[in-house]
Amino acid sequence: MNLRPLGPLVVFGSVLIVGVVVASRREAAEPAAIPAVEPAEPAPPVEPPPPAPEPPPPAPAPPPPVAEETSLVEPVAEFKARITKKPFGIYITPETSPVQPEKFTGYHNAVDVEYEDVAGDVPVRAISEGEVVVSRTASGYGGMMVVRHTINGEKKLVLYGHLDPKSTKPVGATVTRGEQIAILGGHKSAETDGERKHLHFAILAKSTVDLRGYVQNKSELSGWHDPLTFY
Ligand SMILES: [Zn+2]
Repeated sequence: MNLRPLGPLVVFGSVLIVGVVVASRREAAEPAAIPAVEPAEPAPPVEPPPPAPEPPPPAPAPPPPVAEETSLVEPVAEFKARITKKPFGIYITPETSPVQPEKFTGYHNAVDVEYEDVAGDVPVRAISEGEVVVSRTASGYGGMMVVRHTINGEKKLVLYGHLDPKSTKPVGATVTRGEQIAILGGHKSAETDGERKHLHFAILAKSTVDLRGYVQNKSELSGWHDPLTFY
């Protein structure tokens, strides 16, 4: 048998076989190599976070709740905290009064809001909408006003005492809720009829004007409300 002509084929075939074996070994090796390479790949570039969206324009202020609209405005700042001497209903005599010297005797039908420690103007504000029915000076008050206000849907007369007469509104004027209607009169001046700087604030429970600040019988207090029942 002459193998000579087959020599190149044998060599060629051997090369093929070796090549196939090598290729097979590579193929076998490759799956193991892939996971080893993958972690080394550079991480994809991290995209910067998108810019924060523009804040929305501020929404228009909502209308105040109904309860806010119908509640009363304080007639002066720090209204309740400054009622320190004469609350509603206290019985006063010149001997027992928390204010000395004292010229009054009787049951106090209002609250007194004290401002002796405040040097500047103290604005007095309308507690709700209303109409001025009295505006003048009166003994014991100096400047004073009575305004017919709407309170919880009812008309009530409200007395503001010890006002600077130059600052008050005239009879017939319409006032709006929270509007400045006067400033307090000066301490122990003609503006307050010699009284200390304070607001005498009374809410009448009757429909007729009564300028008294004190009543002599306790039962007469029923003609006035304790103003704090509204605050
Ligand atoms: Zn008073």
